Amino acid sequence: MNNLKIVKHPLIQDSLTHLRDRKTSLEKFRHHSDKICQLMLIESMKDFKLTNLEIDTPIGKTTGSKLNEEVVFIPVLRAGVAMLFGAIQLLPKSKVGFVGLERDENTAIASEYYWKLPSITQNTTVIVTDPMLATGGSLVHLLRQIVPKKPKQIIIVSVVAAGEGVQVLEKEFPGVKVYTAALDEKLNDKKYIVPGLGDYGDRYFGTG
Ligand code: URA
Repeated sequence: MNNLKIVKHPLIQDSLTHLRDRKTSLEKFRHHSDKICQLMLIESMKDFKLTNLEIDTPIGKTTGSKLNEEVVFIPVLRAGVAMLFGAIQLLPKSKVGFVGLERDENTAIASEYYWKLPSITQNTTVIVTDPMLATGGSLVHLLRQIVPKKPKQIIIVSVVAAGEGVQVLEKEFPGVKVYTAALDEKLNDKKYIVPGLGDYGDRYFGTG
């Protein structure tokens, strides 16, 4: 899988273990989710372009660099929103598009119930946040509408991915980069990732 990047940073792996543990409380789950999501997002931005500029420090002149990247975040509702808080903290000038896709419990087919995106041009880097990349169905649905807009690049940031979903994405969208903290074994008959961590949205938002 050429475009898959599994991030093995010790802080990420430590937080992932807390997220996986069924005994982790809501408070701790949120803490480690916020931490791992920011670390994953930072890693996904490591090739962002900078523009050099001259600045005056209180002592003298130096050359600095400023971020030169136009970013649109698209959290896949609902669990993707858990990653958004950290994302806009990192890039306060970024824009956010919302895509609501509902997964049929039996067929795992996604249907749209909300769609509101800012302008996406050839200068835009699109970062899609979806902590659990399971079948890839929602992402395929979304990417089929984003790719024709020809953004500069599309990056998917997840926390746990299943091989099945990653393969589906790679086959149809070979140019899309996928970042994850773990590539898990398989999906169960309800299309949950095994061993995974359960329902990310339920565990982060305290439902279920
Ligand atoms: N969404 C989740 O929250 N968990 C899974 O295992 C798969 C999809």
